[in-house]
Amino acid sequence: MEYSKRDANILSDAWKESNEYMSCPKCGKDMIISQIDPINSSDENYISFDTIIECSSCSFKLRSESFKVLGGVKDFDLKKISIGSWSDSGSRASLDYEHVLDYNMLKQLKESGELVEFLIVNNHVVEIIE
Ligand SMILES: [Zn+2]
Repeated sequence: MEYSKRDANILSDAWKESNEYMSCPKCGKDMIISQIDPINSSDENYISFDTIIECSSCSFKLRSESFKVLGGVKDFDLKKISIGSWSDSGSRASLDYEHVLDYNMLKQLKESGELVEFLIVNNHVVEIIE
């Protein structure tokens, strides 16, 4: 199975239509994200993983790339999030992505300043790993 631009478009549609969690474009059930192998790249701050996104109910399956970022919620709105993180050299960095996360959860995280891991697939923050 090859990662394709068409898959990426289906993915972003799936995220757009789901306010809380990514749902299957075919049957509407939850999707399961599994990271498989690290993808070697020399000049990125974060290790990307070859990632399979599959439906928990039907046979729908996609392949994409994902990575994790440790940081805190700096700012957010209903669509976008700014993550306060650090670069390899230790300097502070601000990373901006679209997200599909719960608004109240983000509000709590911003207020507490807690550091968490964000899972980013196809430039969308799709999950928080605590
Ligand atoms: Zn499905």
